[in-house]
Amino acid sequence: MTTTSAPRLIALLLDEHDDAQQLVTHVEDVLDMAQPCASEVHAICVTRTPNPALAERLQRLPLGAIVCIVAADLREPVQAVDFTSVLQRALETHALHSTDCVCAPAGALGEEVVARLAATFDGCAFGRVQHVSFDVSGAHADRAVFGGRSIVRVRSERGPWFVALRTSRTGSALAAPATPAAPEWREASSVPHDADEIVVVPGDAARLPVETARVVVSGGRGIQGPQGFALLEQLAARFDAALGGSLPAVDAGWVPVTHQVGQSGKFVSPSVYLAVGISGTPQHLAGVSTTTRIVAINNDEDADIFRVADVGIVADWDTFIPALIARVDARRRACAHTQ
Ligand SMILES: Cc1cc2nc3c(=O)[nH]c(=O)nc-3n(C[C@H](O)[C@H](O)[C@H](O)COP(=O)(O)OP(=O)(O)OC[C@H]3O[C@@H](n4cnc5c(N)ncnc54)[C@H](O)[C@@H]3O)c2cc1C
Repeated sequence: MTTTSAPRLIALLLDEHDDAQQLVTHVEDVLDMAQPCASEVHAICVTRTPNPALAERLQRLPLGAIVCIVAADLREPVQAVDFTSVLQRALETHALHSTDCVCAPAGALGEEVVARLAATFDGCAFGRVQHVSFDVSGAHADRAVFGGRSIVRVRSERGPWFVALRTSRTGSALAAPATPAAPEWREASSVPHDADEIVVVPGDAARLPVETARVVVSGGRGIQGPQGFALLEQLAARFDAALGGSLPAVDAGWVPVTHQVGQSGKFVSPSVYLAVGISGTPQHLAGVSTTTRIVAINNDEDADIFRVADVGIVADWDTFIPALIARVDARRRACAHTQ
């Protein structure tokens, strides 16, 4: 790794969803971030098959270099280790500097890839960030914490820095370059990868995913067992809602880990979040958007969840939830009669 004083930003484009617009927006975000320090931006794009249309769109942006790598043996479903092994070699060829900042799009794949690359290059992993700025003292990354309720600024003196950048594009249209960078096409193999390392956990196709649900019915330790969660599922079905849970509920096996809400689980932004038997710790609320209306049911009137709830109900769930289900059913029957 060589050292240079000029920060260089390297946007990684990982062909995950075949969504060219999403990939181009990521590069535009990196270009916005580079403007104040007049940094050069390079794009390294990894796809399964050649994508000349994407390369052509990248040429309309003011990029210092465009590297298009075709790795036909990337596995399906996508594996971060495959992208990492291709990108490790690409960044070595690209002579990664200690003042470079490598940016992948935020998301499960991008976040794992930059964490792995940071370890490989002995760099600094900033994780999921909104923005990075640079000065003589190093790099400063802004991270949203507690579900966007706060921003922390993290500083690192020495790079290379690796970030998963959240989409924030609000900037003006970027001027097309007078001399577009010519794409450099390469072929690569994602082998060797450690095939044994991957454990595929079967999905939970029967349940609605919490990340995209309009309504989430979520239970905590206060639910006390699987019977209570069966009742929450009945309620969720009536509202076309997804079932969520707190960490203790997941640890107890009452709800699958793919439905855990919070700092170490999923981030949700439904219109309504029904929190039942959940105390409202910062780690749990970190997974609930500030724009979501929280309806809390808890038998402790001093529970912290009531500080953030839009509607608070002091009650035992085991009397309140069956009564609510009965009321919803009665209302539906009444509506059916009048039609
Ligand atoms: C690094 C780290 C990451 C973490 N990540 C997460 C995360 O992603 N998600 C997460 O949830 N937690 C996370 N935690 C754990 C977190 O700190 C709390 O332990 C957890 O959120 C508490 O879950 P809870 O509200 O279900 O349980 P509790 O805090 O035990 O609350 C249970 C609530 O149920 C109420 N209750 C009891 N009986 C009834 C009843 N009959 N009717 C109605 N209400 C009742 C009680 O009054 C109480 O308020 C994390 C912690 C750490 C340190």
